[in-house]
Amino acid sequence: MIIDCHGHYTTAPPALEAWRNRQVAALGNPAATPKASELKIGDDELRESIASNQLKKMKERGIDLTIFSPRASFMAHHIGDFETSSAWAAICNELCHRVAGLFPDEFIGAAMLPQSPGVDPATWIPELERCVKEYGFVGVNLNPDPSGGHWTSPPLTDRHWYPIYEKLVEYDIPAMVHVSTSCNACFHATGAHYLNADTTAFMQCLSGDLFRDFPTLRLVIPHGGGAVPYHWGRFRGLAEMLKKPLLRDHLLHNIFFDTCVYHQPGIDLLTKVIPVENVLFASEMIGAVRGIDPETGFAYDDTKRYIEAAALTPQQRKQIYEGNVRRVYPRLDAALRRRGH
Ligand SMILES: [Zn+2]
Repeated sequence: MIIDCHGHYTTAPPALEAWRNRQVAALGNPAATPKASELKIGDDELRESIASNQLKKMKERGIDLTIFSPRASFMAHHIGDFETSSAWAAICNELCHRVAGLFPDEFIGAAMLPQSPGVDPATWIPELERCVKEYGFVGVNLNPDPSGGHWTSPPLTDRHWYPIYEKLVEYDIPAMVHVSTSCNACFHATGAHYLNADTTAFMQCLSGDLFRDFPTLRLVIPHGGGAVPYHWGRFRGLAEMLKKPLLRDHLLHNIFFDTCVYHQPGIDLLTKVIPVENVLFASEMIGAVRGIDPETGFAYDDTKRYIEAAALTPQQRKQIYEGNVRRVYPRLDAALRRRGH
């Protein structure tokens, strides 16, 4: 089985964006705020938005199942306040839940949290609970920078975040550390802010002792871990200077990297440097980079090709495609077992 642990609903019908635009336009004028019930998207429209896009590509590429969350760049946690994010997260999560209901064999949900700058993470728990208990979601996206590129929150190792970690541990679900759009002109969203955040989250964990307090907490760092595998020597050296244990003991029981790296040398490096147990298959298609690579003639985000061509044994490939994802997402594993996989 081939499981893509990183997919977003980037192809939602335009009514979703129109609703969001009305919500944003109404900031400061609560009377104009649209109600959630004013967003009307029928099942046929949802089905079509998936069947001709993500599902079509999954079939072409041989991907069986995608862990599917709301569009990351649309989370835009910096806009409005907690109420704004709360209404928006509920709508986006419900749509992913409906997609998973329409295509139960191919999609399973991961939640967006109603984060907002400066707001206590405990306020996100009701939405998380709903997504896990009512929707059967198996993961969550955690934005380390809800300010959208200004980094006003404490590091991920700070006790500020502990209420959400306690819940993740209780539910035994991992968090993908995933920022949203950048409202800082210095950082292009997907070209700089995302990769910066991946690298930053790893370094925060390296310099702290988060996993001493939460030994079973699991974080997935997407986009191949940003600059982490490339600079593994620097991070090992820094860990030594900071009097931390070896990285494999300090972080690798808890931190995992996905394969959203869009060229062969990148995947070769990732799978050479990072233990295979810590690598999870993902493509994030149809996402940040949608074109065809002129050097190969194939889509940049067709990451399965790179895994196939990497110097891995069939057993290691199976681990990356399925075994590791099922281990890191136990609720996914349980759902698949119920279905006889
Ligand atoms: Zn993503």
